[in-house]
Amino acid sequence: MIPLEVARARVLEALPAPQTETRSARDSLGLVLAADVRSPSTVPPFDNSAMDGYAVRHEDLADVPRVLEVSEDVAAGHVAVGSVEPGRAIKIMTGAPLPAGADTVVKVEDTVPGESSVEILVRPEPGTAVRRAGGDVATGDVVFGAGDVLTARHLAVLAAVGVDRVDVYRPVRVAVLSTGDEVMPPDTLELAPGQIRDSNRPLLLGLLAESGLEAVDYGIVGDDADALRVAFASAARECDAVITSGGVSMGEYDLVKQVLTELGGIELWKVAMQPAKPFAFGAIDRTPLFGLPGNPVSVFVAFEQFARPALLSMMGHRSLLRPHVSATLSEDVNTDPEKTVFLRVLVESGPDGRSAHLAGGQASNVLSATARADAFAVIPRGVAAMSAGDTVTLEMFRWSNE
Ligand code: AMP
Ligand code: MG
Repeated sequence: MIPLEVARARVLEALPAPQTETRSARDSLGLVLAADVRSPSTVPPFDNSAMDGYAVRHEDLADVPRVLEVSEDVAAGHVAVGSVEPGRAIKIMTGAPLPAGADTVVKVEDTVPGESSVEILVRPEPGTAVRRAGGDVATGDVVFGAGDVLTARHLAVLAAVGVDRVDVYRPVRVAVLSTGDEVMPPDTLELAPGQIRDSNRPLLLGLLAESGLEAVDYGIVGDDADALRVAFASAARECDAVITSGGVSMGEYDLVKQVLTELGGIELWKVAMQPAKPFAFGAIDRTPLFGLPGNPVSVFVAFEQFARPALLSMMGHRSLLRPHVSATLSEDVNTDPEKTVFLRVLVESGPDGRSAHLAGGQASNVLSATARADAFAVIPRGVAAMSAGDTVTLEMFRWSNE
């Protein structure tokens, strides 16, 4: 058996380097910047009002209340015709350019508007409610750096500064296929004896989508060597990576194992972890292939521990692992000291901190408990038992109870 950390390091080392491309910012949500982005412009582009109110000369407010003549109105998207002369004001809306002559905006709530004049009730600090040109971003500023992940907030900034083309790491297309004669499409209404519905494909397609990866569905392939060979080869040719499930454990009929070995460049590993000990990894030509076990919980654990970090790294991500936090275990557990054990737990936050308890059955076919869980409690190798009250490391995949 190889330790999990060693296995993961070998996977990460063997991956092809991330590819870059230039693409439209609006199509780049979730992608990683491959180069710094400098702003070609200032934001805001001009001095403007932060409030609906009156643009004034601060020097006119030495004695308040003070009545000022209102020479015109200026709305957002328009420019005042004149400037603010001494003793006068221009009525201004949020986002409208600050007229020449004005240095301060008095918000409408601090005034008594009249026919063609306004009574100013307060004397704010000079510059109040004025948003200065370049106050957010100046021309030439590095707004984002290489390695930053583009969120909706980043795309908003890029739009504001007027950057549409960005250098990013290319999205990675991942082929997903299930194997096994017993595995039937999920929409099968009546299962014949011995058959089960394919839960691994929806699981993997969804996990990929949740991680911002492009998933391509290659369906189910039966335990037939020729069909497996053809399916693996076309998936590897058409996609950047391949994920299969089933057929890599110790069973007699596991043709997947035989075909993967035959294709060359793929090794069968026994990783010192539970669940998901059997794992096949390698490449067909240069396309990485992750051969995950068949049991759905093992698929989830192996995806999280190997495929997800690997695929994120192929997309240029620098942070590859889920956030780790600590919690108090609320029950006793016994685990295999030879393996890193991933318990599926529910996490609760209370006044005494965070606590974790088992989400349900921990067998590798009990998917329902995994679906309810918030995190893995990671029990390291060398530990055979933990007690209620012990501190445990959690790998969080959901924060709903926080
Ligand atoms: P295997 O690794 O092929 O021996 O499969 C291990 C277990 O996982 C068996 O009980 C399989 O029936 C089950 N299994 C394999 N593939 C799937 C799948 N796509 N969906 C649900 N269960 C599966
Ligand atoms: Mg099988």
